[in-house]
Amino acid sequence: MQKLLPLLLAMVIGSLSLVCQEIKPEATEVWEPEPAIVTPGDSDEEPPSDAIILYDGSNTDAWQHSDGSAVQWTAEGNALVVKAKSGSIKSVDNFGSMQLHIEWRTPTEVIGESQGRGNSGVYIQGKYEVQILDSYDNRTYSNGQAGSIYKQAIPLANAMRGPGEWQTYDIIYQAPTFTNDSTYLTPPYVTVIHNGVVVQNHTEIKGTTEYIGAPKVVRHDDGPIMLQDHGNPTAFRNIWVRKL
Ligand code: MG
Repeated sequence: MQKLLPLLLAMVIGSLSLVCQEIKPEATEVWEPEPAIVTPGDSDEEPPSDAIILYDGSNTDAWQHSDGSAVQWTAEGNALVVKAKSGSIKSVDNFGSMQLHIEWRTPTEVIGESQGRGNSGVYIQGKYEVQILDSYDNRTYSNGQAGSIYKQAIPLANAMRGPGEWQTYDIIYQAPTFTNDSTYLTPPYVTVIHNGVVVQNHTEIKGTTEYIGAPKVVRHDDGPIMLQDHGNPTAFRNIWVRKL
């Protein structure tokens, strides 16, 4: 046995070196496809080169009310402000999986409390609400504060700036797929970054975000981005999207 050991060792080392010789570093390099060149904005406020601009303050052509009528919300400088009771607005185009950047501002003058202060929302595919609310020193139910998936997922943090200050949402969204019987084959997932802070981390969306009752799973194709009229003059600016 003692004589055999060196021989066995030599055989093992020999075969190992053979394996090392056969697998080259190049074997695990993938060259195609080459990612498209996207030129980033010069600052965090500027959209990247391949973004679809939905609102830059110049016009509301990319938006409409639910019945297809022209947007009645009020333009103030580069911002678009909710006109109470005019109704929610939605993008003319439909989107599935995407990266969405949107900036919003709750009123400087603090009026109301809980869900009544600066309430609006971003509805993804027209169905899943990422809550917008003045959650700065304003307690409400946790799964209904800013950064929540409304009544489904509590945000990981309260990253609010104060009333009257601009806030950013960067939303990364994976659209669902469906089985034949209209349940999710793969559910929607969403990541939300609020003012640079991750508040939703690849959160599974359970269905529509309902005010009353459990989420509903409804079969749908690509859908619009909808901004909610909840009766408060919340403002929006610098809205762009990249399809993923
Ligand atoms: Mg809302």
